[in-house]
Amino acid sequence: MRYIFGPVPSRRLGLSLGVDIVPFKTCSFDCIYCQLGRTTCKTIICDSFVSFETIVNELKAVLPKVTANYITFSGSGEPTLNLDLGRLIREAKELTSIPVAVLTNSSLFGYPEVRKELLDADLVVPSLDAASQEVFERINRPYPGLKINEIISGIEAFSLDFRGKLWIEVMVVKGINDDERELARISSALRGINAEKIQLNTVERPPAEAFAEPLTKDEMERVSHYFDERAEVITMQGNRQTSIGQPVAEGKDMKAKYGQILNLLKRRPCTIADVANGLGLNMNEASKYLGILLRLGLINADNSTSGKTYFHRSHGQ
Ligand code: SF4
Repeated sequence: MRYIFGPVPSRRLGLSLGVDIVPFKTCSFDCIYCQLGRTTCKTIICDSFVSFETIVNELKAVLPKVTANYITFSGSGEPTLNLDLGRLIREAKELTSIPVAVLTNSSLFGYPEVRKELLDADLVVPSLDAASQEVFERINRPYPGLKINEIISGIEAFSLDFRGKLWIEVMVVKGINDDERELARISSALRGINAEKIQLNTVERPPAEAFAEPLTKDEMERVSHYFDERAEVITMQGNRQTSIGQPVAEGKDMKAKYGQILNLLKRRPCTIADVANGLGLNMNEASKYLGILLRLGLINADNSTSGKTYFHRSHGQ
């Protein structure tokens, strides 16, 4: 399968069958915290990228064999850049009763035609990491001309039309968007948005830029006080992966993948691309598994360059 991967364990979605509908790092942003590295194709030009039939055929082949909590359009770039997103969501819903989710950076929410494409999803999770243009440009490094106030108005308009679940993700980065003024601005912007949850997250997997540092658990707790009762902190504490000390919910396939990655890293340090190419995984899938192994302390990462390298713990990095 080229465009469908997993199911992979997701902290927020349970078991998620990923659908990757844009080429690797084709994105309207170049976030400093991106776990997939720097954006190589920064664009706001929407395209089909992959034929609609190819994705549908892959879905038809995979769906009878999988158990998943969500079919998730996300992957290794911004999914709303794909012109067929709306059709693909509707087709997935025709093929299965598994709910359909879209994870988006919300950059194109200022465009009514893009918002319309998302209306048939069961769950949409847009990101909002800033409310001032200055911080927006520092953290998300957007395509020139994108305006945060237009994006916020777009999310607000979408929240009024959308009948599914809407969760907003706020990624908080130390020294970038964690000051009182910006948090208060984001919180104020979110008051006008009809979302069920506000998920506060911080950097966990090695980021595109070494200076994108995480907040501690206590600092995230402080951040949560700026938001209303819809806010929840998403941390590694208490989630399924760390609370029982083992990757969870995996079937045989998933366990085998953890083992294969560990074996590969025992032989040599690898980048995400090395792991993906070496084991025939999607880049986003490889990144997810590496993130889990990292949280479990089974591997380490060299975070000093943009081409992050992962090591087996026995290599003592
Ligand atoms: S985190 Fe998401 S939105 Fe940001 S650069 Fe990476 S893929 Fe794009």
